[in-house]
Formats: sequence, C-alpha cells, structure tokens
Amino acid sequence: MKSITSFTLQYAHRFLGFKGEAQYLHGHTGNLTIEVEDTINTGVNMVFPCNEIKKTAWEVLKNFDHALVLREDDPLLPAIIGVYEKQGIKDGHPQNLLKGPAFKTELATAYPDARLVVTKETMTVEGMIKIVYDLLKDKLNISKITFTSGDNAASQEYNPAGTIERCPLCGIALNEQGVCEKCGYHK
Ligand SMILES: [Zn+2]
Ligand SMILES: [Zn+2]
Repeated sequence: MKSITSFTLQYAHRFLGFKGEAQYLHGHTGNLTIEVEDTINTGVNMVFPCNEIKKTAWEVLKNFDHALVLREDDPLLPAIIGVYEKQGIKDGHPQNLLKGPAFKTELATAYPDARLVVTKETMTVEGMIKIVYDLLKDKLNISKITFTSGDNAASQEYNPAGTIERCPLCGIALNEQGVCEKCGYHK
C-alpha cells in the first residue's frame, strides 16, 4: 500500500541554451507528489502519516521554494551573486527565514542564505525528480515521484528496498534503538 503527499514549490529558473522561450528567466508553481510504499503499520492502520512525509521532505525541499534554480555553467549565476553581494543579501537577511539546512549532492547544491540552488543539469521536471529522489531516498521508502510545472509533467517509479519499522502509536519511523522520538514508545 502507499501513502501519498503533495506540495507546491514556487521557483524561478531557465533552460540555458534551449531553443525557445524557456531560455529566458521565468517562474513557476511546481507541484511535487511523493508516494511512499510499505506494509500497513497495524497499530495506526496506515503506511506512513502524510504530514510526517511532508515534514521530512519539506525540510530539504523548502530550499527550492521562493528560490532561483540555475545550472552551474549559467553566466547569470555570477551576475546574480554579484548583485546580491552589492545589496548585502548574498549571505542572508533577517527576513530570509524559509531556510532548510544547506545541502550538496552530485546533482544540486543549495545556498539557503542566497535562496539559490545550483544544479548540474538543467532543472526540467525530469531533472527535479532526479534531484528530489537523491535527497530523500535514504529517508523515505519512495515508490514514485511526480513533478508538474506549467505544461510540463514527469514521473518516475522506484522499488523501495525492505520495510521501515514504525511506531505503532503515532506511525513515524523508529530510531536505531527502536524508540519513537515523537511519543517515546519503546519497542
Ligand atoms: Zn520553466
Ligand atoms: Zn510514536
């Protein structure tokens, strides 16, 4: 069985070198759906609480919200960093609060203080799915990711390995000691 959660991300990007309007900087509200597959946790009669999936995913993905996503070789990148630097907002601002922990993977690096994500490949919907899976595959039993943005949509299915042991009282994953960090349940 699956538990499914969706949320929106507002971001700006462009397709560097693309022969079409998308080579110009523009924005989207993207809709991300994450499907998590496991056995039904009999104690709570669910696979995984959707608000917990959202919380785990959002911690990382909020770095994409109200952010600029540019490819590492885009000449806009040094230009924008230069402007942010001059304005004194490159390394953060008191009103820049929607920040997750900075991350760096093979495919993407987040600079939350500057609300920038630098990607290795063009951030198409397909590219975003690869980035999201890479960031969350060790945290959630992901079986499918769907991302839609404007007229573009893509999805990819995965085979989650094994099952995650979850709290029978509140449904979240138990830690390595078999303890629920939310409600204190001991296995
Ligand atoms: Zn676009
Ligand atoms: Zn619990």
